[in-house]
Amino acid sequence: MAASVTPVPDFQALAQPGVQRLRAYDPGHDLVALRRKFAAQVLVELGSNENSHGPSPRARDAVLACLEELHRYPDPLGADLKLALASYHGLDEAQILLGNGSHELLMMLAQVFAGPGLEVVASQFGFAVYALAAQAAGATLRLAPALPTDHAMPRGHDLAALAALIGPQTRLVYLANPNNPTGTWFSGAALASFLATVPASVLVVVDEAYLEFVTDPSLPSALLLLERFPNLIVARTFSKGYALAGLRVGFIAAHPGLVAVMERVRESFNVNLPALAAARAALYDQDHLDWVRDHNAEARVELARLLRERGLFVPESQTNFLLVDFGREAAPIEAALVQRGVVLRPMVGYGLPTCLRITVGNREENRRLLQVLDEVLA
Ligand SMILES: *Cc1c(COP(=O)(O)O)cnc(C)c1O
Repeated sequence: MAASVTPVPDFQALAQPGVQRLRAYDPGHDLVALRRKFAAQVLVELGSNENSHGPSPRARDAVLACLEELHRYPDPLGADLKLALASYHGLDEAQILLGNGSHELLMMLAQVFAGPGLEVVASQFGFAVYALAAQAAGATLRLAPALPTDHAMPRGHDLAALAALIGPQTRLVYLANPNNPTGTWFSGAALASFLATVPASVLVVVDEAYLEFVTDPSLPSALLLLERFPNLIVARTFSKGYALAGLRVGFIAAHPGLVAVMERVRESFNVNLPALAAARAALYDQDHLDWVRDHNAEARVELARLLRERGLFVPESQTNFLLVDFGREAAPIEAALVQRGVVLRPMVGYGLPTCLRITVGNREENRRLLQVLDEVLA
């Protein structure tokens, strides 16, 4: 860069107070660099909860069919996808807001409904984006302690503790069900009881990023509770079960009044052309999703069993990942795994230094993970 004419501003000081205190989302590893380094060998990527089974072939075809239209803007309303989602989930189109991944919508919710002097409630060991959303909006984050490790849902959300933190300044509550990174969950009945205690002016966001992987019948989608609780917001994504993480598409379902307010700050073309087409095609291929759910559930049980056999603490999960507790500092183990081409997610940032989060991969990835883990633990 050429020498500047005016002094370099103190950008940090110029940012609004919430952003000054913010640390950017930590994606775990620089995967692009790792892929370059392991170009000649296999890199086993089990750090980001991506779905190794891949998307529906119909989604791929839908993307290819877009190639002649790339000079066009996408439909700013995403009308076809909204219609498909509404009919599949039994919703009204006016209840749906599409996002560039659900991450965008989780951030927007705090931007719209929280701010300085207001509070956002979430759980210890909840998804990192909730804290980011609250802080970026300048709101105060209040974290409820998670359930103890000897509980049936170790480190899971304690709904009573969350309810106790709700006060007159609370605008938003963020919950994930099942939760990332713990894999824990609570029943639909428990959620309904919790919602019944929450004041109508407190918005409750239930993030169901992993719902497509759930096999426990006690955990239906919170979408079924929208009619009863107008302050409920359900966030869903095409990144996980539908395996379209690279395209960035998610949505929230909520009361039409809430959606209308959120629409005011939505960037007009936030979901791109191939993403709209692929998500719609994927939604119409529920056979593929069923296949993914079955294979994932089988592999999840098997991987958990094999890890437990190695003396590790592996709680139940309803997702496509396991939170594995090594009972000692996991950083050296994790570093040795990366050196051998196996990428997992460190949990130090979540205050879980003895844990690693392991995505359930396909057969070959899981086999390779265990093989390398055995080398490292030996
Ligand atoms: C992966 C994930 C998301 C969403 O991701 P997008 O790709 O932005 O849709 C949301 N919540 C949780 C808990 C997740 O793990």
